[in-house]
Amino acid sequence: VILPVKKPKWLRVKLPTGKKYTELRSLVEKYDLHTICTSGSCPNMGECWGEGTATFMILGNVCTRSCGFCGVKTGRPDTVDWEEPEKVARSIKLMQIKHAVITSVDRDDLKDGGSIIWEETVNAIRRANPETTLETLIPDFQLIHKNLDRIIAVSPEVVSHNVETVRRLTREVRIQAKYDRSLAVLKYLKDSGIKRTKSGIMLGLGEKEDEVMQTMTDLKNVNVDVVTIGQYLQPSKMHLPVKEFITPEQFKKYEEFGLKLGFRHVESGALVRSSYKAQKHIL
Ligand code: SF4
Ligand code: SF4
Repeated sequence: VILPVKKPKWLRVKLPTGKKYTELRSLVEKYDLHTICTSGSCPNMGECWGEGTATFMILGNVCTRSCGFCGVKTGRPDTVDWEEPEKVARSIKLMQIKHAVITSVDRDDLKDGGSIIWEETVNAIRRANPETTLETLIPDFQLIHKNLDRIIAVSPEVVSHNVETVRRLTREVRIQAKYDRSLAVLKYLKDSGIKRTKSGIMLGLGEKEDEVMQTMTDLKNVNVDVVTIGQYLQPSKMHLPVKEFITPEQFKKYEEFGLKLGFRHVESGALVRSSYKAQKHIL
């Protein structure tokens, strides 16, 4: 019997505040801008927006995959909107974003995996916002080099791809993905000259400490620069249950382990999301 797990106090968050946050919030509403920060009601909005960081999702709101932890809808994806790159670039300009994280649903239905829109989005953002730095949080593109090469060609400051969980739980947590394929994507990015690569894991899905440390070691072995580690929270009753709430002390232990392994940055904490403090990761 799995008993419902009660949220511990370190997961209770205050509502975002701050002048910059309030300004951005009204812009987002006025121009109907789409950020993951608002659609996912991320607890870090006050902090991230205050520092000029936001995350944007491209290629629609429907994913071809159905990961057990993810709140994005699965099904037949939206038709590609060729205006999207310009729309995202305009949003970034309106919001005066200094560091933008771009991510997408997986588009296994498209021959190019969506990589052409990805490339055009980065180019459009750069044209409209030459000072803005970028992180692209990309899908695995099924490790098709031709598609990954489009991302590499526009050389975002940071390229990230999340393994999300430890090897043993990958089948259950990311049903259409493969642990080794994700590692191979990260290796290919680095070997192709991407300066900063990054990956993230969520905890609380039943993984053991040694498995987390092994995952961190695997990421280090493919020369990943930045790792993010956060608490998994169940988006709805239909999603995988939270097996455990990881304590702040345990997060700290992983952080220390990661720094000892030699990662450039380790963000480890209950409320850490892949794009949390992302502006730091370009350094
Ligand atoms: Fe969600 Fe990404 Fe998995 Fe799609 S591939 S279901 S967007 S985590
Ligand atoms: Fe937005 Fe990511 Fe920051 Fe959350 S952690 S507010 S999604 S940039």
